[in-house]
Amino acid sequence: MSPSETAAVAPAPAAGAAAGTPPAAAPVLRIAGLHVAYGGIQAVKGIDLEIRPGELIALIGANGAGKTTSLRAITGSLAWGGSIEYQGSSTRGVPSHELLRRGLVMVPEGRGIFTRMTVAENLLMGAYARQDKAQIAVDLEQQYATFPRLRERALQLAGNLSGGEQQMLAMARALMSLPKLLLLDEPSMGLSPIMVEKIFDVIRAASARGIPILLVEQNALLALKAADRGYVLDSGAITLSGPAEELLHDPKVREAYLGE
Ligand code: ATP
Repeated sequence: MSPSETAAVAPAPAAGAAAGTPPAAAPVLRIAGLHVAYGGIQAVKGIDLEIRPGELIALIGANGAGKTTSLRAITGSLAWGGSIEYQGSSTRGVPSHELLRRGLVMVPEGRGIFTRMTVAENLLMGAYARQDKAQIAVDLEQQYATFPRLRERALQLAGNLSGGEQQMLAMARALMSLPKLLLLDEPSMGLSPIMVEKIFDVIRAASARGIPILLVEQNALLALKAADRGYVLDSGAITLSGPAEELLHDPKVREAYLGE
């Protein structure tokens, strides 16, 4: 938000809310000046990004822009500089498994499922840290209802699933862990158009249930159509950000990412 927008909104927050402006809620994730280097190569060069409760945020950019690197920094899987706050506290020094326990869940590109476990075992692994044991069976049934193919394949090894089925399993497993922030890395990658539709239905449904989502996609059109707001990452830097609807109509976005 620019200083002038802040000045315009600040004196009359109630009026802004009545007009449909969401009230300012503490962000679930706040990133400031994030940078990451591989050896001497700067892959992420000081990005700022914020996710507020319930938001679906698209992070779009070309190959090598630094999208996956940013996600891996957020999950604590590689060294980073700058500031990352999750649920109001710094993630500096917090191991990935602890962030996962606190609900910060990533579905990586390439899915990250356990290929030598069955589909059902994978889904239960998603819930392993949960204490509400009775609810787990209910949620498992819910996932099978959403993804009938996973029910059919429940006792098969996950490694034998098709690419699209593995993506469904990765999503369903992530949802079994009751995420408080879901990071999705290229969920449409390598899927048929029908599978992409299905996965995006599930993403929109999860968002509608209030799960904050950071969606990394090369498919800018799909991502921006689903998202509330978006950020454009180019060579490790954020070059544009704003409401997804505005980015969809931005000539620079249309030329660079929508093939116009
Ligand atoms: P894509 O859409 O192709 O997955 P991306 O936006 O996710 O791209 P990153 O994977 O974050 O991009 O890569 C950002 C830059 O960092 C690229 O130049 C890449 O070559 C480099 N990079 C990524 N991982 C490593 C690594 N382990 N070691 C060295 N360089 C890396």
